[in-house]
Amino acid sequence: MAGFDDRRYFFDDGLRFECQRCGACCTGAPGLVWVDRAEAAAIAEFMNCTSVDAAEFFVPRGEGFAVRERADGRCWFYDQGCRIYPLRPMQCRIYPFWLVNLRCEKSWQEVARQCPGIGKGRCYSREEILERVALDRRLCQLADFTP
Ligand code: SF4
Repeated sequence: MAGFDDRRYFFDDGLRFECQRCGACCTGAPGLVWVDRAEAAAIAEFMNCTSVDAAEFFVPRGEGFAVRERADGRCWFYDQGCRIYPLRPMQCRIYPFWLVNLRCEKSWQEVARQCPGIGKGRCYSREEILERVALDRRLCQLADFTP
């Protein structure tokens, strides 16, 4: 990632975010939530499932699994709230600081229209944001997904 850290970004002064647990990012339009094998195993155990039953939740994808979605597009684990919140995947933990949302200020403003947590809470520093973007890039590679 040469040059990735030494550029200027619209978020150089940081961005405020605090999840309001509204569920907007867990429902609606289809998306991809990816988990690695350890995350999948921990979630399956949390849900009291055997690895066979876990196929109900996950589809093999890249180096791990994609979380299934319901017919209406919501995450398989979302039912009036996240049913696996203590073990939510890393990809969910770093939302909304995903590369696709931080490519430019316009992308961030667009995601802010859907995510009421943006603009609230503590201010994430440029370094914290870049750490999350780098992690998102790594997760996308493992998921065989081009953002
Ligand atoms: S849309 Fe934003 S505020 Fe709502 S659950 Fe997702 S991250 Fe939290």
